[in-house]
Amino acid sequence: MKREICITFKYNLATGNANLNEIVYQLKELQNDLMLRILEQILKDYDDLIAQRLSRTDIYPSRQRKGLGRHFRKDDKERRYCRGRKVRKRGYRKSPRQISTVFGKLSLFIREVECCNCGARYAPLLSALKIGPYDRKEANFEHEVIESVIDTNYRRLIEGRSIDISLGGIHNIVVGSDIDNMFQEPVSSDNMSAIMADGTGFKKKKGGKGELRAVIGITRSGSVEPLGSYSNKSWDEIEKNIKERIKKAGAFNIPFIYDGEPGLDDFLSDVAESQRCTWHAPRGLYHSLWQDGLKKKESQPETDKIKGLIGIELPEEDFELIKDEDKEQVKSKYESCKAEIEEMVKIFYEKGYHHGAFYLENLSRRLFTNIELWLKTGVIAPKTTSLLERMFREIGRRLKKIAWGWSDSAVTNISKMIMIKQYSKEKWKQYWKKKLGIEGYFNIHIITVESRCRNF
Ligand SMILES: [Zn+2]
Repeated sequence: MKREICITFKYNLATGNANLNEIVYQLKELQNDLMLRILEQILKDYDDLIAQRLSRTDIYPSRQRKGLGRHFRKDDKERRYCRGRKVRKRGYRKSPRQISTVFGKLSLFIREVECCNCGARYAPLLSALKIGPYDRKEANFEHEVIESVIDTNYRRLIEGRSIDISLGGIHNIVVGSDIDNMFQEPVSSDNMSAIMADGTGFKKKKGGKGELRAVIGITRSGSVEPLGSYSNKSWDEIEKNIKERIKKAGAFNIPFIYDGEPGLDDFLSDVAESQRCTWHAPRGLYHSLWQDGLKKKESQPETDKIKGLIGIELPEEDFELIKDEDKEQVKSKYESCKAEIEEMVKIFYEKGYHHGAFYLENLSRRLFTNIELWLKTGVIAPKTTSLLERMFREIGRRLKKIAWGWSDSAVTNISKMIMIKQYSKEKWKQYWKKKLGIEGYFNIHIITVESRCRNF
């Protein structure tokens, strides 16, 4: 259906005084209000078109009422739909429907009709617009609120548009989001060079503490693939969720990297090869030797030695381009390091440093996963969890600003949104496009904009 809207503006211009900045400034001020008025007109037209088709069954064949006029049968407690599609117009509802939009609050008087079949009264525009009986906002609005929360500039959004939304309202939008059920599809590990997991505390109401945990994948090209974000969930539950997604895709040996948190010792052990974050190895060894009764002065030479041993750098060039002699060099260094660590383990056992020996044994089994994998496949896994740490810093900063005192599910949702928006931009865009239902059923363009006074 092609329709036109006419817009008339009136302006006062002090000839010789009005400058460009002032003109642009005033136009900018007009933007949202103008869009709101256009929206109102389009919706009124839409309402008329629907009422026309439903009431004039003598003009419009039934196929032109397809998808229109769905309503529950009058007084039907089981809420079954009525088959009747012929209506009588019954004027407008007394109070206007309030809907929050990106342009500001829309106040719209809506037509009511009466079904000729069952006598039910309803507003056919609402179901055509896909607005539920209790919806008070459209999804673009939701989108902008969430985007601005993530970018921590929601205050600007609210102040700039007289949008009335409290922190509680934002919380409800985030809680009501379906993001938690999204992005659960199987994860293909073909393109993955590592999986990382870590946790961080966040402050809750009344001095309580929450624990936010995240799992990410690192692709071979080095970008982040969010796998999951959870608040106050045990590693066991998290593991179950992640494992299901990886297994479906058929896993191979992706190195798993973490910073030595005890709960993660066997995390994903049957789908990924665990590797302690090498960064934390000296600290871990120090702690184990301390358990064996060694003072810092005594364990220092050992931790220093480990620091030196784990620093094998892998070439960053394409694996295919690396000369065989360079590969040999990495290989021989790796072998001598491994031998030295094994030697240390032996000595530790002899000296009775059982904790230290056990720690090193475990470490060596995992520490070189990265290098072994590289020698086998040419894939580089990042050696530290610094990426994850940076991500947590970003999430933490935002939670501190806005989500203080939020429920676990809200924190889970917002952290998931932050992750996906920051690291999977294309997925984020697709998610919203689908959610908004952008499918080409409405197009609008400007025909002419001309002054009525340009006749001299
Ligand atoms: Zn009916």
